[in-house]
Amino acid sequence: MNEQVLSKRLSLVGQEVPVGARLADIGSDHAYLPVALMLAGKLEYAVAGEVVKGPFESAKNQVAKNGLDEKIVVRLADGLAAVKTSDQIDTVTIAGMGGTLIASILEAGKVNKQLTGMERLVLQPNVGEPQVRHWLMENGYQIEKEHILEENGKLYEIIVAEPVKNADGVRYSEEELFFGPFLMKTQSPEFIKKWRHEAEQIRRVLLQLQKASSPQEEKVSTLTAELARIEAILGK
Ligand code: SAM
Repeated sequence: MNEQVLSKRLSLVGQEVPVGARLADIGSDHAYLPVALMLAGKLEYAVAGEVVKGPFESAKNQVAKNGLDEKIVVRLADGLAAVKTSDQIDTVTIAGMGGTLIASILEAGKVNKQLTGMERLVLQPNVGEPQVRHWLMENGYQIEKEHILEENGKLYEIIVAEPVKNADGVRYSEEELFFGPFLMKTQSPEFIKKWRHEAEQIRRVLLQLQKASSPQEEKVSTLTAELARIEAILGK
C-alpha cells in the first residue's frame, strides 16, 4: 500500500468521503488516505492528525513528497485537537484503531468543541464496533451505511454516520449495536464468516473455562449469552 494504491480497507473508507470534502483524517499514520484522495481530486482541503512523532513525520514527508503542503495540513495532536474551527472540516475519518479509542476521540472532540456535530463520520474500528455505534446513538448520529470486508485474512467493518436533527430519534437495539443495523440485515458472506469465527472462539474459551479449577461464573455467563446471541443471528 502507498498513497497511489490504497489497501482495500482504506479505499472503501475513502469511497465514503464525499467529493469536495474538507477532511480531517485522525490517526493518519503515513497520511496515505488524505494524500490519495487529494491526488484523485476528491478533496478541497485536509488535515492529517497524528499523536505519535514517528507517524507524524512520515505523514509530513508523504504530503511534501506529493507537493501537497498547501492542501493538506499535518498536525501533531491528540485526536480531534488536530482540528481548528478555521479548517471548516465537514468529514472526519478515523480508521485502524480500536472502537473504544475511536469513541473516546469523538467524545473528547465533542467536549472540547472541535467536533461541531455537523460532520459526516467515516469510522473503521478494528475491534469494539459496538462502542462506536453506542457513541453515535447517544450523540445524535444516525448510521447511514455499513461495510464489512476481508483483507489479508482479516475482517473489517466500516461505519458511516451522519448527524440528525432529532437526536432522540436515533435508537438502536442491543442486537443492532452489537452486529450493526445494516450488516445484520444484509448478512453478507463476510458477516457470516466473522460471526461463525467469533462463535467458534467463544466455544473454545468456554470449554477451557469448564476445565479450569476455579469457577469463573460471571465470565461463563457473559460468554454464554454472547454465544446465544451470535447463534440466534446466524440462525442456529
Ligand atoms: N488510519 C491509518 C489506517 O487506517 O491505515 C493508520 C492506522 S494506525 C494502525 C493507527 C494510528 O493512529 C497510529 O499511527 C497511531 O499513532 C494513531 N493514533 C492513535 N491514537 C491517536 C490519537 N488519540 N490521536 C491521533 N492519532 C492517534
